[in-house]
Amino acid sequence: MHRDPIFRFLCFLTFTAVSLPAFAETKSPIQERADRFLVLANAGYQAVFRVNSEAQWNAMTDVTPEHDAAVEATGKAYAAFNGNPAIINEARELLTHQKELNELTVRQLKQLLLNAAEGPMTNPELVGKRVAAETKQASMMNGFEFKLNGQKITANQIDDKLEKSTDLAERKAVWEASKEIGPVLKANLVTLRDLRNGVAKEMKYPDYFSLQTAAYGMTTDEMLKMLEDWMTTLRPLYLQLHTWAKYELAEKFHQPVPKKIPAHWIGNRWGQEWPGLVEAANIDKYFEGRKPEWIIKTAEQFYTGLGFSPLPQSFWEKSDLYPVPPDSKRKKNTHAYCNHIDLENDIRSLQSIQANSRWFFTAHHELGHGYYDKAYTRPEVPYLLRLGAAPGFHEGVGELISLASSQVPYLQSRGVLPHEFNADKTAFLLDDALARSLPFIYFSCGTMPHWEADVYARNLRPDQWNARWWKYVGDFQGIEPPSPHGEEFCDAATKTHINDTPAYYYNYAFATVFKFQLHDYIAHKILHQPPQSCNYADNKEVGTWLNNIMEKGGTQDWRKILKEATGEDISTRAMMEYFKPLMSWLEEQNKGRQIGWE
Ligand SMILES: [Zn+2]
Repeated sequence: MHRDPIFRFLCFLTFTAVSLPAFAETKSPIQERADRFLVLANAGYQAVFRVNSEAQWNAMTDVTPEHDAAVEATGKAYAAFNGNPAIINEARELLTHQKELNELTVRQLKQLLLNAAEGPMTNPELVGKRVAAETKQASMMNGFEFKLNGQKITANQIDDKLEKSTDLAERKAVWEASKEIGPVLKANLVTLRDLRNGVAKEMKYPDYFSLQTAAYGMTTDEMLKMLEDWMTTLRPLYLQLHTWAKYELAEKFHQPVPKKIPAHWIGNRWGQEWPGLVEAANIDKYFEGRKPEWIIKTAEQFYTGLGFSPLPQSFWEKSDLYPVPPDSKRKKNTHAYCNHIDLENDIRSLQSIQANSRWFFTAHHELGHGYYDKAYTRPEVPYLLRLGAAPGFHEGVGELISLASSQVPYLQSRGVLPHEFNADKTAFLLDDALARSLPFIYFSCGTMPHWEADVYARNLRPDQWNARWWKYVGDFQGIEPPSPHGEEFCDAATKTHINDTPAYYYNYAFATVFKFQLHDYIAHKILHQPPQSCNYADNKEVGTWLNNIMEKGGTQDWRKILKEATGEDISTRAMMEYFKPLMSWLEEQNKGRQIGWE
């Protein structure tokens, strides 16, 4: 489930005073100077991180002007610390002696500069404007009330209707209602584009998109190239799936078969996932009558079964896990997320758990973030490096567990599915491809990063934003709007991440590709079970192997960690193999049909 914004402002940065390596041999003067500097930097970092996370948490769980004001104040304090010119200058100066410093030191110094780039106080006026504009955008977004035929409708209700309604007129009205938030957010998003690019330039990056890809040690073009390679290798499978899906949908809605799929036919506001097309894989009925508390406890049990310790008591006391009743005055953000509030043991999750399969998988996913946080919370990992080895690693681990939690043998072992349950393997694989994997690749490698690269790196004029958005939706995803959507709309801005987690979405693509690599290794090398149908439950060896990746945090290069764990570089090989049994089935189904939308 790709539903949790990982706030740049919070998550990108991370450190511990006690964690400096104690070398027996004499340290060089430059290493000693760096050590002293990093003790202070880590301590200060953790302090502002915590205060800011707490304020963010309050604003997410209870949207009020007071909480938004608190986020603005702590955001400024946070930026003031991270972007302190003294810190920037000292980190830069020390990095000119990189060869005389140990790797852990170099990584912390580089992380300090990445953190500083979010709000470099070498230009305090710019940073102040940015914090204010970010806060305004979040508040408008969190407080927006969707309306259908004049009646208030929640985002969850919109999603439910798009997943279930068979009435095309109603689907169109709901889909259009979901797009009304875009124009409200556009003006401030234009302002934010310039302010975000401004802070990137202040740190000598060409633009905000490049600043983000620097977390992978890559340029904008290198990142887009990697994403395009992934799309190219998966395209034959995607075209088969797209063809199969549009014939299914046309039949379901009694419509002629179109070239591109009309957006309101799909069970997701952005066509990023195509759920609900495979009835035989729908297991929601097995969750009926389950308590939401059972869902989150079962998710925790997944991890304890692998040998991880239980979540801290404070998780249960401080998290906000269930929906707010419809008549409640409190408004909370409806996106699931998990946050490491103090970079120590205060880990909390925001969810709205209901008794269905989607929330079952989401709960497993979110706790993946929590357990990742727990794994690198140890003295050897400084606060500044308490983060994923690359930004997509965190998501990837969450996604891996979400995948593991959806497999039939696991669901049987937890009593969700009966032991005599006879899975239609093609149906489950097809649903996996449609609802979680393939269309998602074309949204997350195609539409989102290409549009954002145009906006940030190529300064796309605001009067072309919506046309460009739909060009990419058409070219990459093979989807079109139900009626013309001109520049009076801003459909990109209806996607949360465009507003609050900019130039970040390819991390979810990375996570998807990465999760299949990890899963492939676990299935073949540890469990010796087919990747399409395996069960991690209670396997301590899986837990040890995963912990070995997670406990490193950001202390080593992500390529090295991936290669050591799996023996491979990042690629779609495992993902293609996972879906291989589906390809021949689809080709058979699509015989005589025109493949694709050209
Ligand atoms: Zn996540």
